[in-house]
Amino acid sequence: MTRRKVDLLVLNAEELVTLKGGSKKPFTGKQMTNLEAIRHGGLAVDHGKIVAIGKTQKIRSRFEGKQVIDASGKLVMPGFVDPHTHLVFAGSRDKEFELRIKGASYLEILKKGGGILQTVRETRKASLGQLVETCEKTLDTMLTHGTTTVEAKSGYGLCLKGEMKILEAIKRLNRQHPVSVVPTFMGAHAVPQEYEGRAEDYVELVSDEMIPKIAEKKLAKFCDVFCEKGVFNLEQSRKILQSGKKHGLAPKIHADELSRLGGTELAAEVGAISVEHMIFSSEDGLKALAKHGIIAVLLPAASFSLMMNRYAEARKMIDLGVPVALGTDYNPSCWVESMQIVIAFACRELKMSPAEAITAATINAAHAIGRAGEVGSLEAGKRADVLIVNAPNHNFLGYRFGINMVDKVIKNGVLVVEQGKMLRNPTN
Ligand code: FE
Repeated sequence: MTRRKVDLLVLNAEELVTLKGGSKKPFTGKQMTNLEAIRHGGLAVDHGKIVAIGKTQKIRSRFEGKQVIDASGKLVMPGFVDPHTHLVFAGSRDKEFELRIKGASYLEILKKGGGILQTVRETRKASLGQLVETCEKTLDTMLTHGTTTVEAKSGYGLCLKGEMKILEAIKRLNRQHPVSVVPTFMGAHAVPQEYEGRAEDYVELVSDEMIPKIAEKKLAKFCDVFCEKGVFNLEQSRKILQSGKKHGLAPKIHADELSRLGGTELAAEVGAISVEHMIFSSEDGLKALAKHGIIAVLLPAASFSLMMNRYAEARKMIDLGVPVALGTDYNPSCWVESMQIVIAFACRELKMSPAEAITAATINAAHAIGRAGEVGSLEAGKRADVLIVNAPNHNFLGYRFGINMVDKVIKNGVLVVEQGKMLRNPTN
């Protein structure tokens, strides 16, 4: 039998995690523990897509690869999907870090014009070119740590011009960087200083001016809002999300992160695709998410970074049938690019098993940003976004932490990271 010639073969994986079967609907409950792993697995890639997956022997007998990668002794799995980042910002907040260690709360810092508002001042000053240049380096770091698709929120402009600049940066990054970047408009990230005491006017600006313009220019897929005490209340959040929906931006919501305001219930009411954070969500809220299949995007690195000593109740959510995803919440107060450390936190603090955490960081995360048809699992027909990990099995992803275990990254069928380093002129 002549073997079909393809661009790339990955062979001899000690464990090949496929996560197959979850492209239509996110995994829930016990399904989250089934990674559909193949021992001594292999896969064939052609024109950027997976054409076959199975035991190495079988793949080898059917295909001949122009390039062959030997994954002996290693874990092979889908690229991480990070469904929640505030990717584009200028400056840093290292000074405020010390205040936080001494006990200042997030909202106290915000009230003094720090936090988000400081980053807004710096981001407004930065040029589009500067933002793109900074973020390319961030995406390099994410990619070398295994993230192949990332959602990116605007929200450090807080005026039409500033928000458009950030979304334009995201568009350019998606074009010129190997990582796929999915844009979310989050003009309702904070009330800008010039609108202090006039939050209603700002909500009107976001709903009636920013959203229609951004939708018209097709600069975002989703609309997010920070629904929180002292930021945007339920009514204001509802107004913004409904306006987004009317203009074709699917709702997402930062809900019940610092207090129980009821954002989780609001997500069910407006038909959100996902709810983010959820540290203080009510049981009724969780039941509503389970009923509607709305994804809970949990961000344990944010709880850790804010030193909250409180984490989302992932076990309860999984037991109730809520589809759970994990993300970094990469932003200047939670500066973390690695989904590997998020998995380590999820295992220890959310009491998720490594298998559940991997499901949450791949296929379920892809659902949270509407990309599960293309990425998040290794199946014939899907994009070849593949990690080769220096670990004999998937348990190591939760178990070992603090180092980068990713050896190689294949993005759209092209080897882009080797020995944990970016390849500048990748060829296949
Ligand atoms: Fe966030």
